[in-house]
Amino acid sequence: MLRVGLLGYSGRMGQQIADILSAGPDVTLSAAQLRNASTQIAAQHGGDAVATAADAAAIFAQSDVVIDFTLPAATTAHVQLAAATGKALMCGTTGWDQTTQSLAREASSHAAIMLAPNTSLSLALTAHLSRIAAGLLRGYDYDIAITDEHHRMKKDAPSGTAKFLAEQVAAGNGKPQPPISSVRAGHIVGEHAVIFAGEGEVIRLHHSVTDRRIFARGAVQAAQWLSRQKPGLYTLNEMLGIGG
Ligand code: NAD
Repeated sequence: MLRVGLLGYSGRMGQQIADILSAGPDVTLSAAQLRNASTQIAAQHGGDAVATAADAAAIFAQSDVVIDFTLPAATTAHVQLAAATGKALMCGTTGWDQTTQSLAREASSHAAIMLAPNTSLSLALTAHLSRIAAGLLRGYDYDIAITDEHHRMKKDAPSGTAKFLAEQVAAGNGKPQPPISSVRAGHIVGEHAVIFAGEGEVIRLHHSVTDRRIFARGAVQAAQWLSRQKPGLYTLNEMLGIGG
């Protein structure tokens, strides 16, 4: 049974991930971080059986692999804890800066780390298709643009996913990254489109999420996979065998 620790337990994503971990059968929620300790919320996921701790180090100590869905400000310390303990870290938090990314690179010589701005498996496929399409259209007169739509509570814009899609397009056609337009409104879970606009015709690769359980399922699958990897910095696409 794989012991999975959870950072960001009380959040929108944290609660969905805890539901999946509590259902098992191959994984268990070993420790969850509750910053403003509330045993009421933990009772939903096994009550006293779920060790809650405000201290991220305690979460690492009680787990084989740790999932992080918090905020970028917290992620830096979590990456350092992964390096110090050698425990695998599946980080779904978005909005990391260059410092966090370089720390993650350094930490990955001691622990298996995945920075995944989007843990939907079909989004990974959409990114891969975008890369291929950008390469195929390289010599043609097409403008490429990316849109990202999310709920009003989302803190970062553009989304980490939109930036990832832009990187994939640039990797496909060898040109500067395409522009991104972001909308933050209502309760939209996550919409991304890569638009290839030619003269008189448009191709859209549109990915739509209506239920954030999709992200939670992907995150748990990624944590399971990561727990079997040697130290290194991994992407979800590598896990799926469709490129870096
Ligand atoms: P949320 O605001 O609902 O939850 C944030 C959680 O982080 C809460 O439990 C909060 O207590 C905790 N937190 C906040 N500051 C912290 C700190 N300094 N130290 C430790 N914990 C802290 O947010 P959410 O919608 O659950 O999203 C969380 C993150 O995951 C965001 O960065 C979001 O963009 C990202 N996200 C990623 C994916 C994906 O597929 N990878 C999908 C959805 C959201």
